[in-house]
Amino acid sequence: MLDRITARPRHWAILFFGSLLLVTSLAIYLSSNKQPIEELPPNMSEVLEALEATDFHNALIPPLSPPPDWEQYTLQKGDRLSLLWADKWHLPLATLYTLLDNKEGKRYLNRVQPGQHIEWLASRDGQLLALRLWQSRAEGSEWLRESQGFSFRNLTSQREVKLIRLEGTLNGMLVNSLQNMPEISGQEGTIATALDRHLPLRRDARDGDTFSLLIEQEWLSNDPTPYSTRLIAFDYTGKRMQIRAARHQDGRFYTPDGVSLIPPFDRIPLAQRYRISSRFNLYRRHPITGRVQPHYGTDFATPTGTHVRAPADGRVVRSQWHPFGGNYIVIDHGQGFKTRYLHLLRSQVKPGQDVKRGQLIGQTGNTGRSTGPHLHYELHINGRPVDSMRAELPSVEKLKGSSLKEFLTQSQQLFSGLDGHIRLEDLALLLPEPN
Ligand SMILES: [Zn+2]
Repeated sequence: MLDRITARPRHWAILFFGSLLLVTSLAIYLSSNKQPIEELPPNMSEVLEALEATDFHNALIPPLSPPPDWEQYTLQKGDRLSLLWADKWHLPLATLYTLLDNKEGKRYLNRVQPGQHIEWLASRDGQLLALRLWQSRAEGSEWLRESQGFSFRNLTSQREVKLIRLEGTLNGMLVNSLQNMPEISGQEGTIATALDRHLPLRRDARDGDTFSLLIEQEWLSNDPTPYSTRLIAFDYTGKRMQIRAARHQDGRFYTPDGVSLIPPFDRIPLAQRYRISSRFNLYRRHPITGRVQPHYGTDFATPTGTHVRAPADGRVVRSQWHPFGGNYIVIDHGQGFKTRYLHLLRSQVKPGQDVKRGQLIGQTGNTGRSTGPHLHYELHINGRPVDSMRAELPSVEKLKGSSLKEFLTQSQQLFSGLDGHIRLEDLALLLPEPN
């Protein structure tokens, strides 16, 4: 008797989940027949949307960037941590609130001052792994991600910055030319990738080209290896290109007269605005499984055949077919900026082709696993997908006013270091540092 009573709910469960499964399979079947979105019940389109994003991203995104490296920022007057956090650093605001929940952490985070140095390490999918906030060179706070929340500790070991100058001649791949330089042992890939972001190496590098690099390494005084190795200025003299540039406080590289190496960006890759049918969302939950399945792009509800335009100058790195993404394009804009376009009716560019801002690259469609005509548009910065509708986009080609003045002063020092006209120990002292 007891058995019969407990068994009853199980029947219901089987019936319930069985029908759910049936409905889902039907939905997938319908979508594979390119049924227009209007003919599906509203909740079903949400299911399909989630399936589309998940399956495609799990199956496709080929990581093209090295493992994450520490990023850094020196607080400026008027900065607000919450704004920097989300819009500039692309970290989830919820994580900041988690850190503020900790009493000790709150004490430091609520009292940040201009000039203070912040460093953080984020995973490829944008999760904060570690954060360091320096009150001075030898005094800091550190938050580390644990299986449950974050741990907090005070840092007492001195933070040291060392500068290294490397000179070399290209022989084969850049990474190979860096391999016999003991100062950056183990970091060759990071440095090669950094330079690759600024220069069209794959196309224009030739054996015999010469380069000099100024590299900044950060150490904790009691550690045997640096925790961060970063390019801050370079000079490349080659048969097909000659470029000299230095990093500015905004983290971007500019030529000696302040011209940005990264082209200006349009917010959307379309001639006009269309309704956004699905936003960028790292925490989107699958309506059935409840699992977090991020949507790494912005969906624009465009009629089939709408022209897609390159939002910035760049080079096409992919233009191909994928069962979930349909016809899709990836453009590399340099300096860690990449864009992707999915479900296109057709592509009008080829891999390797250079494109200009505003150039027609394809037409929107409904190809691959898609529930209706739309454009799925993604922006990646340094290998991480970010919200293209919120991200701070490069807008100026040349620095102006006070930021130009600041850059000219500081880059002059970096270039003297690069050219060997100043001792690197002296230069390290000139670089902006926490008080
Ligand atoms: Zn999408």
